[in-house]
Amino acid sequence: MKFNPDEMSGFFGEFGGRYVDESLISELEKIEGFFKECVKEDAFWDEFYDLLKNFVGRPTPLLFAENTTKALGGANIYLKLECLANTGAHKINNAIGQALLAKKMGKTRIIAETGAGQHGIATACVCARLGLDCEIYMGEIDTERQRPNVFWMEMFGAKVIPVTSGTRTLTDAVDEAFRVWSTRTEDTYYLIGSALGPCPYPDMVREFQSIIGRETKKQFLEKNKVLPDILIACVGGGSNSIGFFSDFLDDMDVKLIGVEAGGRSNSYGDHAIRMTGTKGTVGAIQGYKSLFLQDSDGKLLPTHSISAGLDYAGIGPQLAYLGEIDRIQFTSAKDEAVINAVKFLAKHEGIIPALESSHALAEAIRLAPTLEKGTNIIVNVSGRGDKDIFITAKAIDEAKWFNFLEEELKRFKAEK
Ligand SMILES: *Cc1c(COP(=O)(O)O)cnc(C)c1O
Repeated sequence: MKFNPDEMSGFFGEFGGRYVDESLISELEKIEGFFKECVKEDAFWDEFYDLLKNFVGRPTPLLFAENTTKALGGANIYLKLECLANTGAHKINNAIGQALLAKKMGKTRIIAETGAGQHGIATACVCARLGLDCEIYMGEIDTERQRPNVFWMEMFGAKVIPVTSGTRTLTDAVDEAFRVWSTRTEDTYYLIGSALGPCPYPDMVREFQSIIGRETKKQFLEKNKVLPDILIACVGGGSNSIGFFSDFLDDMDVKLIGVEAGGRSNSYGDHAIRMTGTKGTVGAIQGYKSLFLQDSDGKLLPTHSISAGLDYAGIGPQLAYLGEIDRIQFTSAKDEAVINAVKFLAKHEGIIPALESSHALAEAIRLAPTLEKGTNIIVNVSGRGDKDIFITAKAIDEAKWFNFLEEELKRFKAEK
Protein backbone atom coordinates (compact mmCIF):
# COMPACT_ATOMS: atom_id res chain seq x y z
CA MET A 1 0.00 0.00 0.00
CA LYS A 2 1.59 3.28 -1.10
CA PHE A 3 1.13 5.92 1.61
CA ASN A 4 -0.25 9.25 0.46
CA PRO A 5 0.13 11.86 3.23
CA ASP A 6 -2.52 14.09 1.63
CA GLU A 7 -5.13 11.36 2.08
CA MET A 8 -4.21 10.64 5.69
CA SER A 9 -7.29 11.02 7.91
CA GLY A 10 -6.00 9.45 11.11
CA PHE A 11 -8.95 7.06 11.02
CA PHE A 12 -9.06 3.38 10.12
CA GLY A 13 -12.75 2.59 9.83
CA GLU A 14 -14.18 3.77 13.14
CA PHE A 15 -10.81 3.41 14.92
CA GLY A 16 -8.03 5.94 15.41
CA GLY A 17 -8.63 9.67 15.80
CA ARG A 18 -7.23 12.09 18.34
CA TYR A 19 -8.74 11.83 21.82
CA VAL A 20 -6.53 14.02 23.97
CA ASP A 21 -6.63 17.05 26.23
CA GLU A 22 -7.44 20.28 24.45
CA SER A 23 -3.97 21.53 25.44
CA LEU A 24 -2.29 18.99 23.13
CA ILE A 25 -4.44 19.33 20.01
CA SER A 26 -2.47 22.13 18.37
CA GLU A 27 0.85 20.38 19.09
CA LEU A 28 -0.43 17.16 17.46
CA GLU A 29 -1.58 19.19 14.46
CA LYS A 30 1.89 20.69 14.25
CA ILE A 31 3.51 17.23 14.33
CA GLU A 32 1.11 16.07 11.62
CA GLY A 33 2.08 19.04 9.44
CA PHE A 34 5.80 18.38 9.85
CA PHE A 35 5.32 14.67 9.21
CA LYS A 36 3.45 15.29 5.96
CA GLU A 37 6.23 17.64 4.84
CA CYS A 38 8.98 15.20 5.81
CA VAL A 39 7.35 12.34 3.92
CA LYS A 40 7.72 14.33 0.69
CA GLU A 41 11.34 15.36 1.30
CA ASP A 42 14.16 13.26 -0.13
CA ALA A 43 16.63 14.80 2.33
CA PHE A 44 14.63 13.50 5.30
CA TRP A 45 14.54 9.93 3.95
CA ASP A 46 18.21 10.09 2.93
CA GLU A 47 19.16 10.81 6.54
CA PHE A 48 16.73 8.15 7.82
CA TYR A 49 18.06 5.46 5.48
CA ASP A 50 21.65 6.44 6.14
CA LEU A 51 21.15 5.87 9.88
CA LEU A 52 19.27 2.63 9.25
CA LYS A 53 22.17 1.39 7.16
CA ASN A 54 25.18 2.57 9.14
CA PHE A 55 23.84 2.78 12.70
CA VAL A 56 21.16 0.08 12.83
CA GLY A 57 22.78 -2.36 10.37
CA ARG A 58 19.97 -2.63 7.83
CA PRO A 59 18.92 -4.37 5.74
CA THR A 60 18.39 -7.15 8.26
CA PRO A 61 18.70 -10.64 6.68
CA LEU A 62 15.86 -12.85 5.47
CA LEU A 63 16.98 -16.36 6.42
CA PHE A 64 15.61 -19.63 5.05
CA ALA A 65 15.19 -21.71 8.22
CA GLU A 66 16.24 -24.94 6.59
CA ASN A 67 16.51 -27.09 9.71
CA THR A 68 13.19 -25.88 11.09
CA THR A 69 11.51 -26.53 7.74
CA LYS A 70 12.88 -30.10 7.66
CA ALA A 71 12.00 -30.77 11.29
CA LEU A 72 8.42 -29.58 10.88
CA GLY A 73 7.92 -31.39 7.57
CA GLY A 74 5.45 -29.03 5.89
CA ALA A 75 5.65 -25.42 4.77
CA ASN A 76 8.95 -23.64 4.14
CA ILE A 77 9.84 -21.28 6.97
CA TYR A 78 11.73 -18.03 6.42
CA LEU A 79 12.80 -15.66 9.20
CA LYS A 80 13.10 -11.87 8.95
CA LEU A 81 15.86 -11.15 11.45
CA GLU A 82 14.96 -7.84 13.12
CA CYS A 83 16.79 -9.35 16.09
CA LEU A 84 20.04 -8.31 14.38
CA ALA A 85 19.24 -4.58 14.45
CA ASN A 86 21.20 -2.34 16.86
CA THR A 87 19.66 -2.63 20.37
CA GLY A 88 18.29 -6.03 19.36
CA ALA A 89 14.81 -5.29 18.02
CA HIS A 90 12.70 -3.44 15.46
CA LYS A 91 11.83 -0.60 17.85
CA ILE A 92 14.85 1.46 16.80
CA ASN A 93 13.45 2.02 13.26
CA ASN A 94 10.59 4.06 14.70
CA ALA A 95 12.75 5.79 17.30
CA ILE A 96 15.07 7.09 14.57
CA GLY A 97 12.23 8.31 12.35
CA GLN A 98 10.48 10.22 15.12
CA ALA A 99 13.71 11.62 16.59
CA LEU A 100 14.66 13.02 13.16
CA LEU A 101 11.20 14.57 12.92
CA ALA A 102 11.59 16.08 16.39
CA LYS A 103 14.92 17.60 15.40
CA LYS A 104 13.35 19.05 12.28
CA MET A 105 10.71 20.65 14.49
CA GLY A 106 13.51 22.24 16.53
CA LYS A 107 12.85 20.16 19.66
CA THR A 108 15.76 19.46 21.99
CA ARG A 109 14.12 17.24 24.60
CA ILE A 110 12.59 13.81 23.94
CA ILE A 111 10.27 12.05 26.37
CA ALA A 112 9.01 8.49 26.03
CA GLU A 113 7.10 5.84 27.96
CA THR A 114 8.40 2.34 28.40
CA GLY A 115 7.06 -0.87 29.92
CA ALA A 116 9.77 -3.50 30.11
CA GLY A 117 12.30 -1.01 28.82
CA GLN A 118 12.77 -1.99 25.16
CA HIS A 119 11.33 1.22 23.76
CA GLY A 120 13.19 3.17 26.43
CA ILE A 121 16.48 1.63 25.32
CA ALA A 122 15.80 2.28 21.62
CA THR A 123 14.84 5.90 22.34
CA ALA A 124 17.77 6.57 24.69
CA CYS A 125 20.15 5.01 22.16
CA VAL A 126 18.92 7.22 19.32
CA CYS A 127 18.98 10.34 21.53
CA ALA A 128 22.62 9.59 22.40
CA ARG A 129 23.45 9.35 18.72
CA LEU A 130 21.52 12.49 17.69
CA GLY A 131 22.47 14.61 20.70
CA LEU A 132 18.98 15.04 22.19
CA ASP A 133 18.03 15.24 25.89
CA CYS A 134 16.06 12.16 26.88
CA GLU A 135 13.63 11.39 29.71
CA ILE A 136 12.03 7.97 30.01
CA TYR A 137 8.84 7.49 32.04
CA MET A 138 8.58 4.02 33.50
CA GLY A 139 6.23 2.51 36.12
CA GLU A 140 8.03 2.24 39.45
CA ILE A 141 7.42 -1.53 39.59
CA ASP A 142 8.94 -1.88 36.12
CA THR A 143 12.03 0.16 37.07
CA GLU A 144 12.62 -2.28 39.93
CA ARG A 145 11.98 -5.45 37.92
CA GLN A 146 13.88 -4.30 34.84
CA ARG A 147 17.06 -3.02 36.42
CA PRO A 148 19.32 -4.18 33.53
CA ASN A 149 17.30 -2.13 31.02
CA VAL A 150 17.29 0.93 33.29
CA PHE A 151 21.05 0.52 33.57
CA TRP A 152 21.50 0.64 29.78
CA MET A 153 19.15 3.62 29.39
CA GLU A 154 21.23 5.52 31.94
CA MET A 155 24.41 4.51 30.13
CA PHE A 156 22.96 6.18 27.03
CA GLY A 157 22.57 9.34 29.10
CA ALA A 158 18.79 9.18 29.59
CA LYS A 159 17.05 10.17 32.81
CA VAL A 160 14.71 7.36 33.89
CA ILE A 161 11.76 8.64 35.92
CA PRO A 162 9.81 6.12 38.03
CA VAL A 163 6.04 6.69 37.85
CA THR A 164 4.40 6.11 41.23
CA SER A 165 0.71 6.58 40.36
CA GLY A 166 -1.92 3.85 39.78
CA THR A 167 -0.60 0.32 39.29
CA ARG A 168 2.91 1.77 38.72
CA THR A 169 3.25 0.00 35.34
CA LEU A 170 3.13 0.86 31.61
CA THR A 171 -0.41 2.26 31.54
CA ASP A 172 0.52 4.79 34.22
CA ALA A 173 3.78 5.63 32.46
CA VAL A 174 1.80 6.54 29.31
CA ASP A 175 -0.59 8.76 31.29
CA GLU A 176 2.32 10.48 33.01
CA ALA A 177 4.20 11.07 29.73
CA PHE A 178 1.08 12.75 28.27
CA ARG A 179 0.65 14.84 31.43
CA VAL A 180 4.28 16.00 31.48
CA TRP A 181 4.15 16.73 27.76
CA SER A 182 1.02 18.86 28.05
CA THR A 183 2.85 21.15 30.49
CA ARG A 184 5.85 21.65 28.19
CA THR A 185 5.55 21.27 24.43
CA GLU A 186 7.79 24.19 23.34
CA ASP A 187 11.02 22.20 23.37
CA THR A 188 9.65 18.70 24.03
CA TYR A 189 8.61 15.88 21.70
CA TYR A 190 6.78 12.76 22.91
CA LEU A 191 8.22 9.73 21.09
CA ILE A 192 5.53 7.02 21.26
CA GLY A 193 6.79 3.44 21.01
CA SER A 194 4.11 1.58 19.06
CA ALA A 195 1.59 2.08 16.25
CA LEU A 196 -0.97 3.62 18.57
CA GLY A 197 -1.78 6.85 20.39
CA PRO A 198 -3.49 9.90 18.86
CA CYS A 199 -3.24 10.80 15.15
CA PRO A 200 -0.67 11.14 13.55
CA TYR A 201 1.29 8.53 15.60
CA PRO A 202 -0.26 5.33 14.17
CA ASP A 203 0.48 6.50 10.60
CA MET A 204 3.97 7.75 11.47
CA VAL A 205 5.02 4.62 13.31
CA ARG A 206 3.72 2.41 10.50
CA GLU A 207 5.63 4.40 7.87
CA PHE A 208 8.89 4.26 9.87
CA GLN A 209 8.47 0.52 10.50
CA SER A 210 7.32 -0.34 6.96
CA ILE A 211 10.98 -0.75 6.03
CA ILE A 212 10.65 -4.26 7.53
CA GLY A 213 8.04 -5.38 5.00
CA ARG A 214 9.59 -3.58 2.04
CA GLU A 215 12.94 -5.26 2.63
CA THR A 216 11.23 -8.61 3.16
CA LYS A 217 9.31 -8.37 -0.11
CA LYS A 218 12.41 -7.44 -2.11
CA GLN A 219 14.54 -10.15 -0.47
CA PHE A 220 11.93 -12.85 -0.96
CA LEU A 221 11.10 -11.91 -4.56
CA GLU A 222 14.77 -11.79 -5.55
CA LYS A 223 15.24 -15.35 -4.36
CA ASN A 224 11.89 -16.96 -5.15
CA LYS A 225 10.30 -14.83 -7.94
CA VAL A 226 6.89 -15.24 -6.26
CA LEU A 227 5.26 -13.64 -3.23
CA PRO A 228 5.17 -15.57 0.06
CA ASP A 229 1.90 -17.28 1.07
CA ILE A 230 1.76 -16.39 4.76
CA LEU A 231 3.30 -13.73 6.99
CA ILE A 232 3.24 -14.12 10.78
CA ALA A 233 4.08 -11.49 13.40
CA CYS A 234 3.45 -11.00 17.11
CA VAL A 235 1.16 -8.16 18.15
CA GLY A 236 1.62 -5.98 21.22
CA GLY A 237 0.71 -2.41 20.34
CA GLY A 238 1.25 -3.46 16.75
CA SER A 239 4.36 -1.72 15.39
CA ASN A 240 6.41 -4.69 14.21
CA SER A 241 3.36 -6.38 12.68
CA ILE A 242 1.99 -3.36 10.80
CA GLY A 243 5.53 -2.52 9.63
CA PHE A 244 5.96 -6.09 8.39
CA PHE A 245 2.48 -6.36 6.82
CA SER A 246 1.95 -2.92 5.34
CA ASP A 247 3.69 -3.48 1.99
CA PHE A 248 1.62 -6.66 1.53
CA LEU A 249 -1.83 -5.29 2.44
CA ASP A 250 -2.89 -5.02 -1.23
CA ASP A 251 -1.50 -8.47 -2.10
CA MET A 252 -4.71 -10.27 -1.26
CA ASP A 253 -3.21 -13.73 -1.84
CA VAL A 254 -0.76 -13.18 1.00
CA LYS A 255 -2.33 -14.30 4.26
CA LEU A 256 -1.45 -12.14 7.28
CA ILE A 257 -1.51 -13.61 10.78
CA GLY A 258 -1.15 -11.61 14.00
CA VAL A 259 -0.36 -13.48 17.21
CA GLU A 260 -1.38 -12.07 20.59
CA ALA A 261 -0.27 -13.04 24.09
CA GLY A 262 -2.35 -16.03 25.25
CA GLY A 263 -0.65 -15.90 28.65
CA ARG A 264 -1.43 -18.48 31.33
CA SER A 265 -5.12 -19.00 30.63
CA ASN A 266 -8.18 -17.37 29.08
CA SER A 267 -9.27 -16.01 32.46
CA TYR A 268 -9.45 -12.35 33.36
CA GLY A 269 -5.98 -10.88 33.98
CA ASP A 270 -4.15 -13.94 32.62
CA HIS A 271 -3.59 -12.84 28.99
CA ALA A 272 -3.55 -9.88 26.60
CA ILE A 273 -5.93 -11.12 23.88
CA ARG A 274 -7.85 -8.22 22.37
CA MET A 275 -8.86 -9.56 18.96
CA THR A 276 -10.36 -13.04 19.42
CA GLY A 277 -12.62 -14.91 21.83
CA THR A 278 -14.08 -12.64 24.50
CA LYS A 279 -12.19 -9.76 22.82
CA GLY A 280 -11.57 -6.20 23.80
CA THR A 281 -14.34 -3.63 23.58
CA VAL A 282 -14.44 -0.30 21.78
CA GLY A 283 -13.14 2.67 23.73
CA ALA A 284 -11.21 5.91 23.35
CA ILE A 285 -8.34 5.60 25.82
CA GLN A 286 -4.84 7.09 25.92
CA GLY A 287 -5.47 9.21 22.87
CA TYR A 288 -7.07 6.85 20.33
CA LYS A 289 -10.18 4.82 19.61
CA SER A 290 -9.63 1.08 19.34
CA LEU A 291 -10.34 -2.22 21.08
CA PHE A 292 -9.25 -2.39 24.70
CA LEU A 293 -9.37 -4.81 27.61
CA GLN A 294 -11.25 -2.45 29.90
CA ASP A 295 -13.76 -2.41 32.73
CA SER A 296 -17.18 -0.76 32.54
CA ASP A 297 -15.66 2.58 33.62
CA GLY A 298 -13.19 2.53 30.74
CA LYS A 299 -10.24 1.71 33.00
CA LEU A 300 -7.64 -0.56 31.41
CA LEU A 301 -7.59 -4.06 32.89
CA PRO A 302 -4.50 -5.85 34.12
CA THR A 303 -2.96 -8.27 31.63
CA HIS A 304 -0.37 -11.03 31.76
CA SER A 305 2.16 -12.40 29.31
CA ILE A 306 5.48 -14.15 29.72
CA SER A 307 6.79 -11.46 27.35
CA ALA A 308 6.78 -7.94 28.75
CA GLY A 309 6.39 -6.40 25.28
CA LEU A 310 2.97 -7.92 24.54
CA ASP A 311 1.11 -7.24 27.76
CA TYR A 312 -0.62 -3.96 26.92
CA ALA A 313 -4.42 -3.75 27.12
CA GLY A 314 -4.85 -1.74 23.89
CA ILE A 315 -4.07 -2.46 20.24
CA GLY A 316 -3.13 -0.07 17.43
CA PRO A 317 -6.23 1.26 15.61
CA GLN A 318 -5.20 0.14 12.13
CA LEU A 319 -4.67 -3.44 13.32
CA ALA A 320 -8.03 -3.43 15.09
CA TYR A 321 -9.61 -2.28 11.84
CA LEU A 322 -7.74 -4.80 9.64
CA GLY A 323 -8.83 -7.52 12.06
CA GLU A 324 -12.48 -6.44 11.91
CA ILE A 325 -12.50 -6.53 8.08
CA ASP A 326 -10.68 -9.90 8.11
CA ARG A 327 -7.59 -8.70 6.24
CA ILE A 328 -5.52 -9.91 9.20
CA GLN A 329 -6.34 -13.17 10.98
CA PHE A 330 -5.65 -13.09 14.69
CA THR A 331 -4.69 -15.94 16.97
CA SER A 332 -2.78 -16.27 20.24
CA ALA A 333 0.01 -18.35 21.76
CA LYS A 334 0.21 -19.48 25.37
CA ASP A 335 3.29 -18.92 27.56
CA GLU A 336 4.24 -22.60 27.47
CA ALA A 337 4.19 -22.81 23.66
CA VAL A 338 6.26 -19.61 23.60
CA ILE A 339 9.03 -21.09 25.77
CA ASN A 340 9.01 -24.20 23.60
CA ALA A 341 9.45 -22.01 20.52
CA VAL A 342 12.52 -20.33 22.05
CA LYS A 343 14.04 -23.78 22.71
CA PHE A 344 13.14 -24.99 19.22
CA LEU A 345 14.69 -22.03 17.41
CA ALA A 346 17.83 -22.06 19.55
CA LYS A 347 18.38 -25.75 18.93
CA HIS A 348 17.46 -25.93 15.24
CA GLU A 349 18.67 -22.57 13.93
CA GLY A 350 21.18 -21.14 16.42
CA ILE A 351 18.91 -18.15 16.92
CA ILE A 352 17.58 -16.93 20.27
CA PRO A 353 14.33 -15.11 19.57
CA ALA A 354 12.73 -12.62 21.97
CA LEU A 355 9.79 -13.99 23.96
CA GLU A 356 7.57 -11.54 22.04
CA SER A 357 8.73 -12.84 18.65
CA SER A 358 8.43 -16.41 19.92
CA HIS A 359 4.64 -15.98 19.92
CA ALA A 360 4.80 -15.68 16.13
CA LEU A 361 7.23 -18.60 15.97
CA ALA A 362 4.96 -20.76 18.13
CA GLU A 363 2.15 -20.22 15.61
CA ALA A 364 4.48 -21.05 12.70
CA ILE A 365 5.57 -24.26 14.45
CA ARG A 366 1.92 -25.21 15.00
CA LEU A 367 0.80 -24.30 11.49
CA ALA A 368 3.65 -25.46 9.21
CA PRO A 369 3.13 -29.24 9.55
CA THR A 370 -0.55 -28.84 8.53
CA LEU A 371 0.35 -27.14 5.22
CA GLU A 372 1.42 -28.51 1.86
CA LYS A 373 5.12 -28.72 1.05
CA GLY A 374 6.15 -25.66 -0.96
CA THR A 375 3.93 -23.25 0.97
CA ASN A 376 6.08 -20.29 2.06
CA ILE A 377 5.76 -18.76 5.52
CA ILE A 378 7.77 -15.75 6.69
CA VAL A 379 7.96 -15.02 10.41
CA ASN A 380 9.11 -11.64 11.68
CA VAL A 381 11.65 -12.26 14.44
CA SER A 382 11.06 -8.83 15.96
CA GLY A 383 13.82 -9.06 18.56
CA ARG A 384 16.53 -11.16 20.16
CA GLY A 385 16.06 -13.09 23.36
CA ASP A 386 19.24 -12.39 25.33
CA LYS A 387 17.31 -9.73 27.25
CA ASP A 388 14.89 -12.40 28.52
CA ILE A 389 17.42 -14.58 30.33
CA PHE A 390 15.93 -13.84 33.76
CA ILE A 391 12.60 -15.25 32.56
CA THR A 392 13.73 -17.93 30.11
CA ALA A 393 16.40 -19.51 32.31
CA LYS A 394 13.97 -19.60 35.23
CA ALA A 395 11.26 -21.21 33.11
CA ILE A 396 13.55 -23.80 31.51
CA ASP A 397 15.95 -24.75 34.29
CA GLU A 398 14.80 -23.15 37.52
CA ALA A 399 17.09 -24.94 39.98
CA LYS A 400 20.32 -24.12 38.13
CA TRP A 401 19.30 -20.51 37.60
CA PHE A 402 18.33 -20.08 41.26
CA ASN A 403 21.64 -21.52 42.31
CA PHE A 404 23.52 -19.16 40.00
CA LEU A 405 21.72 -16.07 41.36
CA GLU A 406 22.31 -17.14 44.93
CA GLU A 407 26.00 -17.85 44.36
CA GLU A 408 26.44 -14.63 42.41
CA LEU A 409 25.08 -12.63 45.32
CA LYS A 410 27.36 -14.49 47.74
CA ARG A 411 30.41 -13.74 45.59
CA PHE A 412 29.31 -10.14 45.29
CA LYS A 413 28.99 -9.74 49.08
CA ALA A 414 32.31 -11.50 49.70
CA GLU A 415 34.07 -9.02 47.41
CA LYS A 416 32.73 -5.99 49.27
C1 LIG B 1 8.02 -4.15 22.07
C2 LIG B 1 8.23 -5.40 21.32
C3 LIG B 1 7.16 -6.05 20.66
C4 LIG B 1 5.74 -5.59 20.73
O1 LIG B 1 5.48 -4.32 20.25
P1 LIG B 1 4.79 -4.08 18.84
O2 LIG B 1 4.58 -2.61 18.83
O3 LIG B 1 3.51 -4.85 18.81
O4 LIG B 1 5.74 -4.53 17.80
C5 LIG B 1 7.45 -7.18 19.92
N1 LIG B 1 8.70 -7.68 19.85
C6 LIG B 1 9.74 -7.10 20.48
C7 LIG B 1 11.09 -7.72 20.36
C8 LIG B 1 9.54 -5.94 21.24
O5 LIG B 1 10.59 -5.39 21.87
